[in-house]
Amino acid sequence: MGRHKQHKPRRPRGESGQPTTEWFGTAFHSTEGMQHLDVRRSGNGILITSSPAEIDGVPASWPLRLRNDVDGGLNKVGAALAAGRGHVFGGTEGPGHRTALAFIPDHPEEGVGTLARVRTSVDPDGDVVFERSAERPMGLWAEAGENLLRIVPLLGPDAPPADELEDCLLCPGCYRPVYESSSSHTLIGAGPMPMVGLCRLCAEGTTLRSLRQANVPVDPQQRAVLETVAAAMA
Ligand SMILES: [Zn+2]
Repeated sequence: MGRHKQHKPRRPRGESGQPTTEWFGTAFHSTEGMQHLDVRRSGNGILITSSPAEIDGVPASWPLRLRNDVDGGLNKVGAALAAGRGHVFGGTEGPGHRTALAFIPDHPEEGVGTLARVRTSVDPDGDVVFERSAERPMGLWAEAGENLLRIVPLLGPDAPPADELEDCLLCPGCYRPVYESSSSHTLIGAGPMPMVGLCRLCAEGTTLRSLRQANVPVDPQQRAVLETVAAAMA
């Protein structure tokens, strides 16, 4: 089992001094590499994107949009994350099964929490299936929760519902989810192909510096992109 080395939260920064409606943080894991969490306003709800997460056992990015009326409101979700407290919410019933979202603190190891969509069979002997799950250090969840609580009052009662999830691209340098609305959204149009769609942190070289400091594994494709950028910027 690997361990979490550090995480580097990004402070919310508004260009105009306005409170931002987004937050982003990254943990560096000794065997899993970079693990991102992105929390942002999405219409009348909040979008939490974990990249990577496990979806049916395969690594992928997981955008989870929660409406403000989910079981007692987003404030409960934010408070549970911030306090590191277990919380089950957003339950739905299907034929023969139930699905719910769960925040499971300090699992499977101390200091690590899991956000999961869990499907249970109505049959008491049935299986419990983790359809989607994301493991992150408790400290990163706590910051995500604090920022979620900060963003909820900014949703406004008249915020339009977001019918469709915003599209996100994964930055080729770090697989961070980059939304059109991200304040750090960067597109480098010119230059070698892999540089298109890089997030600002990769374009500035911050990601490569953080990785070297943390000494964590990087996907060879990501490393190639980051080193190409570093060479181009030198
Ligand atoms: Zn990046």
